[in-house]
Amino acid sequence: MCGECGCGITSEVQKGHTYYRCTKKKGVCAQKYIREEFLAEQVNDTIKKVSLPSEWKEFMLAELEKEQASSFHSDELFVQNLKNQIKSVEETLDRLLDAHLDSTITSEEYIAKKQKLLNQKINFSEKLKDFERKGNRWLELSRQFILDSNQAIIIASEENLEAKRDFLKKIGSNPRLASRSLFLDFKNPWRILAETPVASLCDAPNLGEKTNSENWLGYRDSNPD
Ligand SMILES: [Zn+2]
Repeated sequence: MCGECGCGITSEVQKGHTYYRCTKKKGVCAQKYIREEFLAEQVNDTIKKVSLPSEWKEFMLAELEKEQASSFHSDELFVQNLKNQIKSVEETLDRLLDAHLDSTITSEEYIAKKQKLLNQKINFSEKLKDFERKGNRWLELSRQFILDSNQAIIIASEENLEAKRDFLKKIGSNPRLASRSLFLDFKNPWRILAETPVASLCDAPNLGEKTNSENWLGYRDSNPD
């Protein structure tokens, strides 16, 4: 898309070179042609911005492993607690039925109390199902993000245009051309990588330092407490 007028971009071949330009369907637009080679270079630069060096990949994956190990125990407790609560509600339901059969409570009392307990049971069961479904999803997402960002430099250096286009779609939205430059709105957490100066990523991380990997990756929020 043209960054000035919002029209589509079209390509044409002139003297053996491919050029891209704004279709200018909406009228006046001052944007000029951009040569394919020059555009390709900018696509590669954009992809390289979110590339994660291999030293970092290894370090981040190791951090995730540790995080996974330490969260395992609290996850177990969380699940056990829900299971206990469900069991307790079921026992109360049994006692309620006994009381009803012994005629110690009226039918109205029984029905009202039963409904309340059933609602509680549904609530706990849904929480449990929800946790089992997405409990450690942030870990998987983080791991995938690390692996993808480590692939960026390879995708940028290869000739596979389709892979480049797919990767651009993955990392950003609203691609546009203006002043012969490619602009892209980086998606999270790619944006954080794109905004991190390359120089600071070139050194292997200090392994002794406590890092805040979960915040850095931005996925921690999806883990229920
Ligand atoms: Zn335009």
